[in-house]
Amino acid sequence: MSDAVDRDVTDRAAADRDVVVVGGGPAGCAAAVFAARAGLDVVVFDRGRSSLVRCAHLENYPGFPAGIDVGTLSDLMRAQAERAGCAVVEDLVESVERSEADADEPETERFIVGLQEGESVTARRVIAATRYDGEYLRGLDDDDAMFEVHDHGGETHEHFDREYADRDGTTPVEGLYVASPSEADRQAITAAGRGARVGKKVVADARIEDGWWPAAAEGVDWVRREAELDDEWTDRDRWVEWFDAEHADGPVDPDSERFARVREAAIDEALSSYVDADEEAARAAAGHRALAERLDPEAVVDAHGTDALLDAMDDEVIAAYAAGDGSNAGGDTDDTDAEPVDGGRR
Ligand SMILES: Cc1cc2nc3c(=O)[nH]c(=O)nc-3n(C[C@H](O)[C@H](O)[C@H](O)COP(=O)(O)OP(=O)(O)OC[C@H]3O[C@@H](n4cnc5c(N)ncnc54)[C@H](O)[C@@H]3O)c2cc1C
Repeated sequence: MSDAVDRDVTDRAAADRDVVVVGGGPAGCAAAVFAARAGLDVVVFDRGRSSLVRCAHLENYPGFPAGIDVGTLSDLMRAQAERAGCAVVEDLVESVERSEADADEPETERFIVGLQEGESVTARRVIAATRYDGEYLRGLDDDDAMFEVHDHGGETHEHFDREYADRDGTTPVEGLYVASPSEADRQAITAAGRGARVGKKVVADARIEDGWWPAAAEGVDWVRREAELDDEWTDRDRWVEWFDAEHADGPVDPDSERFARVREAAIDEALSSYVDADEEAARAAAGHRALAERLDPEAVVDAHGTDALLDAMDDEVIAAYAAGDGSNAGGDTDDTDAEPVDGGRR
């Protein structure tokens, strides 16, 4: 945080974050994962009315052939956000206010996020991802712009306007993004897609504030096989050549220190997205393990059969279990939800 940030604001806040995500459903978790994997400091606050918990069984979310219960999906989404480097906190956001910025230093502006239980936190950017709630945003813009009134059964109801934000989540309030409510929030997968789009926009905007220009700031979050790197692309100079050609006519002088700084960061990021075969296998194993941890053991036995599971276990562990010493039989203590690596980019 800049020293110029209003002292009153920092004094009132328990922490200053790059991004606060309000809501840990499909929209919020997707946004949080994209932002954290790009190195932003992200906290997700999650409590209150959830659309997802009302689903009896989710049968149209890709990747789950027989559907998935929402408890398991929520658990997986939350674990993924934490593994990407986010803090996930069970607390209700009650208010979001803006602090004053120095006129010539807009980056000193913060949102002050008020919580039901914890102390308030400040953040440069806030992503709203709460399908049923927008009340905590009241006051950031005119009520007429943010809320719409409906007549239902003779009674008047006020709702957050689903069209208040653009498709990339940006709003008339600088630094405020809305992933949900939105026109995408009626299905879980479209809500997640919208969250991802908003997360990417937040990353691009943070970079632009840091001196990047739009064409350089809009990247992809891919993990690629090192084997796909042609020989010439293993040479950093080849990337420099490519970047210089790509951005020669851009808004920033190619001979400037700013251009060189952004080029270094962009090339570092591109190169770090390649993994070798060992790393690919390690990530695949970690992925299976993280899924397996959340499966009902009886379902695993049922799916694989006892022979396959016994074959996969150490004979010594089986012998110890059979002898009555079942403590930690078959289990190791690896924690696949451990600290993220490389700012969560895996
Ligand atoms: C009965 C029912 C059945 C459904 N069945 C399906 C289905 O089968 N398939 C499908 O694709 N979709 C289904 N949906 C829709 C699906 O639930 C939504 O599309 C999806 O959950 C939207 O995701 P979201 O992240 O936008 O919101 P939510 O899932 O509502 O997540 C928002 C999160 O924000 C938290 N939150 C809210 N307010 C605050 C606050 N002030 N501070 C902090 N946290 C807050 C909530 O606790 C929640 O965890 C169903 C919906 C309902 C109601």
